[in-house]
Amino acid sequence: MASSIFIKGVLASSGHTNIIITGRTISRIAPDAEPPAGATVIDATNMAALPSFANMHSHAPMTLLRGMGSDQPLQSWLNNYIWPAEQQLDDEAVYWGTRLACLEMIKSGATAFNDMYFRLPAMAQGVADSGIQALLGLNLFGDADELDRYSPTPADGIAYSVAPHSIYTVSTTGLQRAVNFCQKHSMPMHIHMAETIGEVDDCQRLHGCRPFELIDRLGVLEALGPHLIAAHCLHLTESEIQLIGRHGCTVVHCPNSNLKLGSGYRFNMLELEQAGAKVTIGTDGCASSDNLCMLEASKTAILLQKGWRADPAAINAEYIMDIATINGFNTLGIKAGRIAEGWQADMVLVDLNQAAFIPQGNILSHYLYAAHSCSIDTVICRGRILMQNRHVDDEETILANARKTAQRFTV
Ligand SMILES: [Zn+2]
Repeated sequence: MASSIFIKGVLASSGHTNIIITGRTISRIAPDAEPPAGATVIDATNMAALPSFANMHSHAPMTLLRGMGSDQPLQSWLNNYIWPAEQQLDDEAVYWGTRLACLEMIKSGATAFNDMYFRLPAMAQGVADSGIQALLGLNLFGDADELDRYSPTPADGIAYSVAPHSIYTVSTTGLQRAVNFCQKHSMPMHIHMAETIGEVDDCQRLHGCRPFELIDRLGVLEALGPHLIAAHCLHLTESEIQLIGRHGCTVVHCPNSNLKLGSGYRFNMLELEQAGAKVTIGTDGCASSDNLCMLEASKTAILLQKGWRADPAAINAEYIMDIATINGFNTLGIKAGRIAEGWQADMVLVDLNQAAFIPQGNILSHYLYAAHSCSIDTVICRGRILMQNRHVDDEETILANARKTAQRFTV
C-alpha cells in the first residue's frame, strides 16, 4: 500500500483544514478528513501550506564557487575566475556541489530545478541522493562536440536537456547540431539569451541581427517552441517579444543575478506573458546570485516590476507566486504548484509563529514581502518529507564534505 501523510490543522487557501497525501499525490483536503491507518502525522497547527518553488535556472555545482570573482564585470568574471575554476572541478566536487545546492534549495522551499552544467552523471547522483527533481542540461560550447558522447538515461525525478551555453560561446554549427539533437531525442533546450547589451551588440556585428532573430533563423524557435527554455531575456525588442510569445517559449527571469552582474533590470514580464511566452523565475548559479533562494528571487522580481514601471499595482503576490511555482513545474512536465486534490504533493509548511506573519492578514503577501526562507519549517517533494523542523537528513555530512571539497579550488 502507498505510504501516506496526514497534515493536521494546516492553514490552506480554504481556511484551516486537514490534508491527506497518498503516495505522491494530494488525495484529500477537508477539515473533517481522518488520518489513514499507518499515516505519518504532521501537526501543522500554526502553519500554512503553500506550493514549493521550481527554480528554473541554475548551475548547481557552482555552490562551491560561491563568491568567486565577486563584483567583477560579466566577461572578466567568466574569463578570469569562473571558467579557470571550473577546469578544476572533478566528479567528486560536482557531486558535493550538487548536494550542497539541493540542500540549499530544499531549505528555501524549492522541490525542482532546471540546470545546465557538465559531469551530469555525478550531478544526477547528487540529485537522486537529495530526493528532489531536476532537469539536467549538458552544457555545450563551440561546435557542440560534447553531443557525440551524450546518451543519458532518464530516471525517476531526473530528466535531461541539451544546454548550449549561449549564442556567443556556441557556433551556429553547434546551435544547429543542438536543435537537431533535441528533436531526435525529444529533449528540451536550455540556453542563456539576451543577457547583456554586449551580447546583443556582438550578435548584430557578427550576424547582422539580434539574438532571438539569430536562433529563429537557425530554426530553433520553430523546432522547439515551448521546449525552449531561455534564461535572462533582458534585452528584447518588441518584435523579439512577439517572436518568443508566438512560439510559446519558456523564459526565465533571474533578477538577483542580473542585478549583481549589472546586466539590467527592465525585464518585460507582462509583455512576454501577454505575447504568449511562459514566464518563470530562477536564481542562476551561486557564483552570481549568490544563493539559490527562490523566495528571495521572487521578492526581487516583484519589487523590480513595481519599481521600473513606477506602478505598485503592476503585479501582485499571487501573480509572482504562480510564476515561481506552477509555471516552472508546467515546463518541467510536473503537475505541481497547487495545493489541491489530484496534484502532486510538492509543498512547504510555513511557520506562522514568526514576527513576519503577525498580524496574520494575507499569508502569501507576508511570505513574499516580509518573511525569509527560515520561516519554512517542512518541505514535501513527491509525497516525501525532505525537511521537518528545518532539518534535512544528512545535512551535517553534506556541509562538511562540501566545505572540504571547496577548499581545493583556487584561481
Ligand atoms: Zn546561468
